[in-house]
Amino acid sequence: MRIEILGAAAGGGFPQWNCNCRNCHSLRAGSFAAKSRTQTQVAVSNDGRAWFLLNASPDLRVQIERTPALHPRGPGRDSPIAGVLLTSADIDQIAGLLSLRELQPFRIYCTSSLRRILQEDNSVFGMLNRVPQQVCWMDITVDEGFPLVTTEGTNSGVCCEVFSLGNKYPVYVSPERATTLKPKEALLGLMVTASSGGRLAYMPAVPAINERVLQLLETADLVLFDGTFWSDDELIRVQGSGATAQEMGHVPVSGVEGSLRTLAGLQRPRKIFVHVNNTNPMLDESGSEYHELRAAGWEIAEDGWHFNL
Ligand SMILES: [Zn+2]
Repeated sequence: MRIEILGAAAGGGFPQWNCNCRNCHSLRAGSFAAKSRTQTQVAVSNDGRAWFLLNASPDLRVQIERTPALHPRGPGRDSPIAGVLLTSADIDQIAGLLSLRELQPFRIYCTSSLRRILQEDNSVFGMLNRVPQQVCWMDITVDEGFPLVTTEGTNSGVCCEVFSLGNKYPVYVSPERATTLKPKEALLGLMVTASSGGRLAYMPAVPAINERVLQLLETADLVLFDGTFWSDDELIRVQGSGATAQEMGHVPVSGVEGSLRTLAGLQRPRKIFVHVNNTNPMLDESGSEYHELRAAGWEIAEDGWHFNL
């Protein structure tokens, strides 16, 4: 299975358009040992022909263009992108769907709760179903496995299983609507298994690390994990106000309950942070935070990285 990291930053990207924090300012000034990143986006393929997007970032159009494997191959209109799997209804995970609206047939795999938010409450996504042979919505169920299917309808060799990581829907989902949705479908973690048996754990947003998450991660060969914030009060310190990492649904990297410490015993998988916010001090590759995570066996994903499992 080929895995392409198309983007590795949290919402807003790095640098973020309206941010002049130390990281963003230094990066623009060219005086920073760090790399720019687009918003988190991953693509996987078992055979290098049929590709599947894990979520759909707001930067998707640019990310597809700079990834030759995702370019059209046939004459005229064509795309190797056979499907998109959604792990939440966050704008950062769904906005890219609007860049895939040019009457191309593909499948969207999501829970019935997410499908209702997109199809029933947000009419703009109706553009994905302007003609009969366009997007096919595939309801998926928490804790059940399912195959990703090629455009022709054959098994791609990639199997997925989703599990619940949280019960908070995005703030744009009205409280009235949220009461009609299944809490456990609000935020999913994903395990992707290739025909080779290689396993990718994809968790760009993790509110808390429980025993189940630990067990799942230990069965993976590659872990792409929530690296949004270094510390719980990071945004408050940088901006002067705001929410904590935990309030925003992200376990911080550092601290007593942080991922570095909680996942210290993880032996089997290669461990890589994705979804890194522009304020995160670990982006500075000359800094102590970066050296601390490297010493703990972690890496920070960069746009353009790829893996084979
Ligand atoms: Zn910034």
